[in-house]
Amino acid sequence: MSAEATNPDAGAEFRLTAATTTRRRARTRIDLRRLGRAALLGPTARDRLPDAIAHLAEAHRAHHPDADLGVLARAYVLAESSHRGQMRKSGEPYITHPLAVTLILAQLGAETTTLTASLLHDTVEDTDVTLDQVRAEFGDEVCFIVDGVTKLEKVDYGAAAEPETFRKMLVATGNDVRVMSIKLADRLHNMRTLGVMRPEKQARIANVTRDVLIPLAERLGVQALKTELEDLVFAILHPEEYEHTRALIAARTADGDPLPALAESVRAVLRDAGIAAEVHVRPRHFVSVHRVSRKRGELRGPEFGRLLVLVTEDADCYGVLGELHTCFTPVVSEFKDFIAAPKFNLYQSLHTAFAAPDGAVAEVLIRTHQMHRVAEAGVIALGNPYAPAEPADPGAAGERIDPTRPGWLSRLLDWQQAAPDPDTFWSSLRAELAQDREVTVFVADGPDSADDARAISLPAGATCVDAAYARHGEAAHGCIGARVNGRIAALGSRLADGDTVQLLLAQDASSGPAADWLKHARTPAARIAIARWLQAHPDGPHVPDPAPRAPLQMTSLKAAGGNAVVDLPDAPVRLAGCCTPVPPDTVAGFVVRGGAVTVHRVQCAAVDRMREVGRTPVAVHWRATADCMVTLVAESFGRPHLLADLTEAMSRQGASIISATVEPPTEQRVRHTYTVQLPDATGLPALMRAMREVPGVYDVGRV
Ligand code: MN
Repeated sequence: MSAEATNPDAGAEFRLTAATTTRRRARTRIDLRRLGRAALLGPTARDRLPDAIAHLAEAHRAHHPDADLGVLARAYVLAESSHRGQMRKSGEPYITHPLAVTLILAQLGAETTTLTASLLHDTVEDTDVTLDQVRAEFGDEVCFIVDGVTKLEKVDYGAAAEPETFRKMLVATGNDVRVMSIKLADRLHNMRTLGVMRPEKQARIANVTRDVLIPLAERLGVQALKTELEDLVFAILHPEEYEHTRALIAARTADGDPLPALAESVRAVLRDAGIAAEVHVRPRHFVSVHRVSRKRGELRGPEFGRLLVLVTEDADCYGVLGELHTCFTPVVSEFKDFIAAPKFNLYQSLHTAFAAPDGAVAEVLIRTHQMHRVAEAGVIALGNPYAPAEPADPGAAGERIDPTRPGWLSRLLDWQQAAPDPDTFWSSLRAELAQDREVTVFVADGPDSADDARAISLPAGATCVDAAYARHGEAAHGCIGARVNGRIAALGSRLADGDTVQLLLAQDASSGPAADWLKHARTPAARIAIARWLQAHPDGPHVPDPAPRAPLQMTSLKAAGGNAVVDLPDAPVRLAGCCTPVPPDTVAGFVVRGGAVTVHRVQCAAVDRMREVGRTPVAVHWRATADCMVTLVAESFGRPHLLADLTEAMSRQGASIISATVEPPTEQRVRHTYTVQLPDATGLPALMRAMREVPGVYDVGRV
């Protein structure tokens, strides 16, 4: 460790002089040996808790009465001895930091392994303690978690250290969500003590907290940490608005808060109804007051807080709701049932509101004690994620997604592998986390496989393109169409919660994403895959391979067998993309830059342009046995199964679809553009006829 060690990411900055470092090292080694032995041997060392962790032990026992406090004592002794001599920038001994972080977690109900790892969370990063030592003394789980929160060295990673550290931490979180629990509590304590930092550094840390840590806290359902982090960030990044909000709240407090009286009347109503319930007044946090006042204008009476009603049984939640809606004037638009439909982060509650006598609106949250614990502490309240599952709640069995490995985390773990560099990872992570809601859609492979539909969670605003990449990975490059809830949909269509999506994939590998797919992709997985494909195929999907510099024979679009012959020996030949000529079209060739001959249909506007600028056409004729590539446009009315019927009719005529675009329906009309390959050009009229015969299709023509 350098003589002046700084913790680059957070508020845990400390300084050491060269002299104290040397002294500390020598002493630490002795202490470690002595303490390690003491911890192994004496029942005295195990039984007597150091005074410094009495508060922590009490908080832990409140949630876990049978917890083994001995392991916490050992972890504390190792952490304290190894950090001894280090100071935080505030001048306090460094050990105050891991202690405070661990207390935060204990108060949220974290289990013992989390707390053990939390006490040790900075030892490997900042002291002589090694991971091997942590493993030997505390086991694999604690070692894994400590490793997960240990930062990568700036020396090794330079500017990439922060993004790479987060990447590493998120991957570790995928294996054990407790890594992120500790990181969040660590950040909260560092934010609480950020005042000692230079203002620029405060702002930089607050920014990362806002963009990354707060969304992670939200997604993991750790509301208690999230709200405090939000207020701390608010104070740093928006000091004037923070001050204004503080003044608003102070003034309200002075005026007298109407909520306690409303709480009392709610208590009376529930008492009369015979429902056992606790009714609390919950002040909004600063950011919430700020948000609500921006939305509603000036806040009135009870709007500075909410009532929280806690009951024992799920069913009582609805009982409370019924009483409130009967005895007060409900504001029906404010009613939301997050019990029947929990938020993706496990949050469950009933939300409602009623009009207070003076007309101001009082919001009420109704939940059970268990829902409240989960609402406040999220995954931290779940306990050991590896403990045997509790008997499933019969109502919810099979419905809930694994809370320790939610959809957004699985997606993130998938796409982070493809992110080519730390910058892409970092910006993709922030963009992904900026999306605050999630939808679940059911994605099937093809037209007839709705029964195999798989549930996939996507960020709100995701499109069929996102669904395709989430379901098929790189194979989604070949996606040529989609149906949503049975109706043809443009690939750019946004998906709503509960939609069923069927994807049609091209059978050959020659098609690829259009550049505008990037506009439709909201998930990093799709964006990164599309961007990579486009980079590797700068000419796009529908341009022929470079034609060989040899015979007179045409190399058509990735197709085997030539079909156009020009009167210029040795000239490479290309079929123009603008009019996609096929036999037996009347065609003209023009020599273009580089000596190649481009073949157009004679009706093509390009032919006139070439003639106008004085280019002389080169004679072209078709070979007799030629493949045929053609672009067709079908106009149709939108109806369920149309896309499937149409593509099936086409394949029955022997056409393979090279690419397809389905434009968003306007006034129930859908325009499909297909580039297809036929074994023989003489099949084209039959193909077009077959397409016109598909019910709903009212026109088919060449481009
Ligand atoms: Mn720390």
